[in-house]
Amino acid sequence: MLEKTGIPTDDDLKGVIPNKRRLAKDPVVIIECFQKIPCDPCAISCKLGAIKPFEDINDLPQVDFDKCTGCGICISSCPGLAIFVIDENYSEKEALIKLPYEMLPLPRKGEDVYALDRSGEIVGRAKVIKVLKTKNQTNVITILVPKNMVMKVRSMKVEG
Ligand code: SF4
Ligand code: SF4
Repeated sequence: MLEKTGIPTDDDLKGVIPNKRRLAKDPVVIIECFQKIPCDPCAISCKLGAIKPFEDINDLPQVDFDKCTGCGICISSCPGLAIFVIDENYSEKEALIKLPYEMLPLPRKGEDVYALDRSGEIVGRAKVIKVLKTKNQTNVITILVPKNMVMKVRSMKVEG
């Protein structure tokens, strides 16, 4: 399925999503990288050692969720746009997602945008909380979504 569509299955995701206890504690990274390719900038970018050093350039990232602070520095390092940070504790009903974004124009802080799932389908609306311009073309956008959408939304689209 993943090889054909590029979209991970629930089984694929089970292996990379932190447990409920960790999700409930603090912001935390989720790395949705499933294909062994020669690529390792994520592991180099994390100065806290939360992404374990690769033994082989083709390794898949392995995360120590207890070391991750959810800082999001690794997000823009990934050429595959596969890294996200989730904060389920923003409010009773809403959660934050930090996600990579390479489209232009960039959204503005406070703007309402479309929330997209992993296949690029619109699944709802989101509000832009922060826009972080990075040194490379992978900027980092923080969006606010209903809590029940936090594991579904993985991209966004500017309206209009
Ligand atoms: S979010 Fe920060 S602490 Fe967590 S893996 Fe990425 S760089 Fe490391
Ligand atoms: S940088 Fe991105 S694509 Fe490369 S190994 Fe890390 S998560 Fe996968």
